[in-house]
Amino acid sequence: MNTLTVQSNGNGHHNSPEHLDEIAEHPELMLIDTHTAIEESVREILCAVGEDPNRDGLLRTPHRVAKMYGELLEGYTQDLDTIVNNAMFEVEYGEGEMVVVADIEYGSMCEHHMLPFVGKAHVAYIPRDKVIGLSKIPRIVDMFARRLQVQERLTNEIADALVQVIDPVGVMVVVEGQHSCASLRGVEKHGLNMITTAQRGEFRANPGLREEYYRLIGK
Ligand SMILES: [Zn+2]
Repeated sequence: MNTLTVQSNGNGHHNSPEHLDEIAEHPELMLIDTHTAIEESVREILCAVGEDPNRDGLLRTPHRVAKMYGELLEGYTQDLDTIVNNAMFEVEYGEGEMVVVADIEYGSMCEHHMLPFVGKAHVAYIPRDKVIGLSKIPRIVDMFARRLQVQERLTNEIADALVQVIDPVGVMVVVEGQHSCASLRGVEKHGLNMITTAQRGEFRANPGLREEYYRLIGK
């Protein structure tokens, strides 16, 4: 558990050394602390935009936002080993043939504006001597998506994680994303689809493989 440690500076006591000792002994306190810190911050934002955080409709909003961040950013509390949990299998598979998992829906949050971006990830790899359980790839995608992200990094992190876990001959990841920060503000372009790719190993060397992959995912 790391990074999602938002320490309140509202009244100072959250940062005191005694408090940190207490957290070291009882890690569950950190979650409570994070939740409280986000609630306090949301209340401050509501005041700053001229709202009354005590009016009926807004009373529980800080609580709901803190809970939502807990869900949307839960990737910070996850790690690759736990998620993969040794779900790896040795199989006989045609040499050089690829495994494709397409249309993995994800939701993430852009780190520049803290607004959501959503879309699909398409993952392919060419096994060397092991394959990974099918359900694990969407979970790896989610683990990285549920952090503050930029789509380019998300794409690379998925590819690098697969290299690390299955040591494949090659990996290719394509991520499509529609960014709220582009449709709601700034350029206000609706329906833009951003596409990012990451290639590792054989996919980088062999254009024919990339073409086959694009054909398999219908691009
Ligand atoms: Zn953005």
